Amino acid sequence: VRRHAERAAYDRETVNAILDAAVICHLGVLALGSPLVIPTSFVRIGNRIYLHGARANRSLALAGGSPVCVTVSILDGLVLARSAFGHSMNYRAVVVLGKATIVTDAAEKLAALVAFVDHVIPGRSAEVRPPSDSELASTTVLSVNLDEASAKIRTGPPIDTQADAGVSAWAGEVPMHTEFGEAVAAPFIVSDTSEPASIARLRRERA
Ligand SMILES: Cc1cc2nc3c(=O)[nH]c(=O)nc-3n(C[C@H](O)[C@H](O)[C@H](O)COP(=O)(O)OP(=O)(O)OC[C@H]3O[C@@H](n4cnc5c(N)ncnc54)[C@H](O)[C@@H]3O)c2cc1C
Repeated sequence: VRRHAERAAYDRETVNAILDAAVICHLGVLALGSPLVIPTSFVRIGNRIYLHGARANRSLALAGGSPVCVTVSILDGLVLARSAFGHSMNYRAVVVLGKATIVTDAAEKLAALVAFVDHVIPGRSAEVRPPSDSELASTTVLSVNLDEASAKIRTGPPIDTQADAGVSAWAGEVPMHTEFGEAVAAPFIVSDTSEPASIARLRRERA
C-alpha cells in the first residue's frame, strides 16, 4: 500500500478478520488481454480463499491456473468533511494477489462447498440436502493462497484542513452496517414453516 501506508496491515490476523467478515469479493482476471472483474462469493479456509461457480462460468475458467487479483471491501461508514474534496469513507479492505488453482481433490472440494454455505449462514449446511455427485461435477472450485495479501483500514473522522475549520458545513461520520430482515418462507415449503435455527442465529449475531 503506497498512499496512506499507515492504514495498511499485512499480518494474517487482520487480513483473516476482514475476509471472514465479508461474504462477497471481486475476482480480477485477464480475459484476452483485457481486465475482467466479476463480483462473486468466497470463503476462507486456513491459508486459502475459495471461489466457486458453474463450470461454464467464464471468469472461473480464465482464472484456473492463472494469476488473479481478488479484492474484498466492507463499507463501515461515510465520512463527511467541510470541503467536497475532503469527503471519504471508512472501510476495511483486502487485496489478494496470487495464482488460482482448480481444486480437484474431492474431499477438499466438498469441504469448500460446505464452508461456503456456512460462511454466509453459519449452521445452514447441516439443515439442507448435501450436494449430489452431478452438482459437484458441474461446479468449479478455485483456491488462491493468502501469501500475498494486504489489508487497508480507514477509521475515524474527516481530515479537514486548518483553512476549512471555519466553513459552516456539517462534518462527521455516518456509520453503516448490514442488517437482515424477517425471513419470508418460500411458498412451496410443505413442512415446518417456522424460521430455522441458522437464520435466527444469523439475525442475532449480525444485528
Ligand atoms: C470502499 C473504498 C473506497 C475507496 N475510495 C477511494 C477513492 O475514491 N479514491 C482513492 O484514491 N482511493 C480510494 N480507496 C482506496 C483505494 O483502495 C487505494 O488504497 C488507493 O487508490 C491508493 O492505492 P495506492 O496507489 O496506494 O496503491 P496501488 O499501487 O493501487 O496498490 C499497491 C498495492 O497496495 C495494496 N492495496 C492498495 N489499496 C488497497 C486496499 N484498499 N486494500 C488492501 N490493499 C490495498 C495492494 O496489495 C496493491 O497491490 C477506497 C478504498 C475502499 C475500500
